[in-house]
Amino acid sequence: MTPRAPHRFFSPTYAAARAGFLDAVRRLGVAPESHVHPFARGAQDEALAMDAALVGDPHGASLLVVTSATHGVEGFCGSGCQRALLDDEDLLRRAAAGNVAILLVHAVNPYGFSHLRRANEDNVDPNRNFVDFAAPRALNEAYAGIHALLVPDDWPPTEANRVALAARETEMGTPAFRALVTSGQAVQPAGLFYSGTQPTWSNVTLRDIVRRYGRGRERIGWIDVHTGLGPSGHGEKIFAGRNDPAELARARAWYGADVMSYYDGGSASAEVKGPITGCVYDQCPDAEPTSIALEYGTRPMEDVLGAIRGDHWLQAHPDAPAAKREAIKRAMREAFYVDTEEWRGMVLGQARAAFLQAVMALSVAPSRH
Ligand SMILES: [Zn+2]
Repeated sequence: MTPRAPHRFFSPTYAAARAGFLDAVRRLGVAPESHVHPFARGAQDEALAMDAALVGDPHGASLLVVTSATHGVEGFCGSGCQRALLDDEDLLRRAAAGNVAILLVHAVNPYGFSHLRRANEDNVDPNRNFVDFAAPRALNEAYAGIHALLVPDDWPPTEANRVALAARETEMGTPAFRALVTSGQAVQPAGLFYSGTQPTWSNVTLRDIVRRYGRGRERIGWIDVHTGLGPSGHGEKIFAGRNDPAELARARAWYGADVMSYYDGGSASAEVKGPITGCVYDQCPDAEPTSIALEYGTRPMEDVLGAIRGDHWLQAHPDAPAAKREAIKRAMREAFYVDTEEWRGMVLGQARAAFLQAVMALSVAPSRH
């Protein structure tokens, strides 16, 4: 087998990534389904879509779901992982031998992918939007008290802003500060990590896909690819199920002792309220789910948070000069995608290991009680 040059699987734009994904799917003789966004357009006025493809048995007991671009701009990485998987004959052969079907969902948040945002067309963070809007829920009201520091009037931030924000973090302690900022909030629609007030288009569309391909399965593994947290090039396997010790134990049995959980503070991520993987419980209630996020580190936390803050400032200042806009968008791209062959190689190596672990675990005969 010849070594695979990692860059072949990665694209510089959403439109090119989408075309590459659809080509790779069709090369396998699989017909993709495309859910075109009803109103939003891309940064180059291109159509935006969530594309899905099932490789394998539509009715088998086991399904592996792999999702990309839940956080838009993070899709440069996740799309590359999906395209490498589609090109991986050995992995696909093992999945077929174990009767494991693979569902790839490309660009859960195509708007953010194209426009280089984490958030979607409604400034909603899709990975905080899968909450039960009918039930009482935590709104994270305290976020309102820090929003003006996170998205100040001036960008880049003034020295006074830097000092004030650093003081707040010191006062609260870093874990509490990160939880306040990143776990999700429902009080500031223009803010960071905004959960929204109703299910977004991505939410409704993904739920429908998961229900149709997942119903009747006995076991569903789900890997949602993210970037922006942790050491550069390392893929942290973050448990993305409910706070259920049995599911966490299963994830560690599949993927290893280094599956981290934000429920016990062990993860680079603060607790995520309303992740997309949560929909498996209501859409596929008879399946045994095992869900992780595969979270690749890119750059230091302050750079990543700085990029997100700048992007929110830009949303509030649509008349910003072109040079400033470009600098902010460049910072977003660089915060969530490291454009080196070394980084891409690390990404694909760890993605392949995780995909293979999931396929092997899902191939095992069921042990349902
Ligand atoms: Zn993410």
